[in-house]
Amino acid sequence: TSRPIKRALVSVYHKDGIEVLAQAFVKAGTSVVSTGSTAKKLEELGVNVTPVEKVTGFPESLDGRVKTLDPHIHAGILADMTNPEHARQLKELGIEPFDLVVVNLYPFADTVRSGANEADTIEKIDIGGPSMVRGAAKNSATVAVITDKNDYALAAERVSNGEGFTLAERRYLAAKAFAHTAAYDATIIEWAKNVWKKPASLEPATDDADAQTPNTDELFPPTYTRTWDKSNVLRYGENSHQQAALYLDPLTHSDFAHAQLLHGKPMSYNNYVDADSAWRSAWDFAPKIAVAVVKHSNPCGLAIGETVAEAHRKAHACDPMSAYGGVIAANATVTLEMAQAVKHIFTEVIVAPDYEPEALELLETKKNLRILKVPTRPVLDQSIRQIDGGLLVQTTDRIDAEGDDPKNWKLVSGEAADEATLRDLEFAWRAIRSVKSNAILIAHDEATVGVGMGQVNRVDSSKLAVERANTLADGVNRTKGAVAASDAFFPFADGLQILVDAGVKAIVQPGGSIRDEEVIEAAKAAGVTLYLTGTRHFFH
Ligand code: 5GP
Repeated sequence: TSRPIKRALVSVYHKDGIEVLAQAFVKAGTSVVSTGSTAKKLEELGVNVTPVEKVTGFPESLDGRVKTLDPHIHAGILADMTNPEHARQLKELGIEPFDLVVVNLYPFADTVRSGANEADTIEKIDIGGPSMVRGAAKNSATVAVITDKNDYALAAERVSNGEGFTLAERRYLAAKAFAHTAAYDATIIEWAKNVWKKPASLEPATDDADAQTPNTDELFPPTYTRTWDKSNVLRYGENSHQQAALYLDPLTHSDFAHAQLLHGKPMSYNNYVDADSAWRSAWDFAPKIAVAVVKHSNPCGLAIGETVAEAHRKAHACDPMSAYGGVIAANATVTLEMAQAVKHIFTEVIVAPDYEPEALELLETKKNLRILKVPTRPVLDQSIRQIDGGLLVQTTDRIDAEGDDPKNWKLVSGEAADEATLRDLEFAWRAIRSVKSNAILIAHDEATVGVGMGQVNRVDSSKLAVERANTLADGVNRTKGAVAASDAFFPFADGLQILVDAGVKAIVQPGGSIRDEEVIEAAKAAGVTLYLTGTRHFFH
């Protein structure tokens, strides 16, 4: 099934690495057809090249938009030479078939990343390249296609030894080529949907506001489909028997996944998951200075401070036991004072927008600490979760709904909170967004003091929050006079009652249960302040 490579078509944007193929062509006396600057490069390397214009009888035109888009080229790519009728027609037309097609495409993603304007970006949408790649991939019965420069050496070897590729090899290369052009197109879509929004003129005309379907443009296509062009293979996944890799978004280079590792061992799968959660938690409090300490995607401490060191001190104090082996994220530059505290705590990862030089120097003395620098705030606007046979896509939960603003909260029990209490309630409400449901969070002085996370009923979450607040505090009662937040409504009064009994003075929750009245009555009976937000922040 091997087919010797007698004639090759080469058109590559990036010429690096092509030397090895050129040498093989020279040695084997392969007949090579090539486009403008690729032909020039191959000639310099001693290859006897036929310029594509000579084959097409048509000049490269329209700024290179039309080079290889011609039947003299495409019939040579698409003729299935195992089919006698194709072979006969080709001969009649005086066209020679290709055995190998080597193409790499215009660098579209690089162009977007460089901040190029619309016209320059459009010019970098390769048309002829993908056509050749897809043609050759379709015709893998007789043509081998190379799109990856890591495969040049292999192709060179097969050119030199005169054997070419086997059918199974050509099929595999074809699959790889289709994946390449699909990902390339997905990247174009991703760019286009951000730049070219749906104009009002294309919205269906209707007077009935209720009849309008919600705009789901933001959800299409899922970010998942774009070219994740560079993958970092990780040592393992969530557990050591799972394989894992990190794929990077090619359209940006300033997000969390591209974080600069300033010090320490490579990031693990779990490190990425936890550091990303911690990072987003801390930024939920911007422009205030905040620090999050996270374990297994849940905060074991979150706090706001006048300084980053103060925020860290308060966050750590919430649950020093759990902070062991945790991930710390700050939304402000890490100072020497904070570094001095972190130095004494076994920490897997620290992530921040920047570090004071002395702080960095001190932290670098910790061999096992991974130090990440992410200068930009979180940009993630979609979350994607895989289910068997499908993907669930949603816009990212943010703290920007109407119900997230205390001005819109409804007081349903007790007195209106004073300024300090309201500040704590707002803090607790922002913090609850980062806690896995069912979530109950107790806070004081803009810091968590007890977090009840991930329970399957709200009573257990309340109990856990109270217990953690008080057992971890060396005999100090941290729930008396504190405030609490619940990520979703209390379905019964029992969960709230536990908080009330623990001495919590004010509570914020979405409301909306059919038993709201019962819950409100329990708060009233205890004289506790209760606000309803109308907005929920489930996090699973
Ligand atoms: P060269 O650098 O050899 O002048 O051009 C190589 C690049 O042109 C490759 O990236 C290839 O994919 C692209 N290309 C080849 N033929 C065509 C065509 O007909 N139209 C467009 N737009 N690009 C082409």
